[in-house]
Amino acid sequence: MQSNRGDETRRKIMNAHMPGQLEEIARQAEAIIPCKICRNNYVIADDSDAESKAYAMATNAWKCGEFRSAPLEEVRRVMKSVLDSANHRCPSCG
Ligand SMILES: [Zn+2]
Repeated sequence: MQSNRGDETRRKIMNAHMPGQLEEIARQAEAIIPCKICRNNYVIADDSDAESKAYAMATNAWKCGEFRSAPLEEVRRVMKSVLDSANHRCPSCG
């Protein structure tokens, strides 16, 4: 099962970029938006439609071959962690 270990290593390298890519998608979907006051920090939009759109865009990106070896469920799991870890309040404006 040595090949499995190699796959896992490759997947870890690939997945190192995944949170950044998914965060960009979440911004495009406007699930994460710039602070309305300072615009310097991103905060969660708290918009379930935008979050659904973010998942749909991530799924489409996955279908188009982004995140190559990662299973879709992992893409969705990382998207959830991106959304879960987003600021609810701007760190500058509070
Ligand atoms: Zn702010």
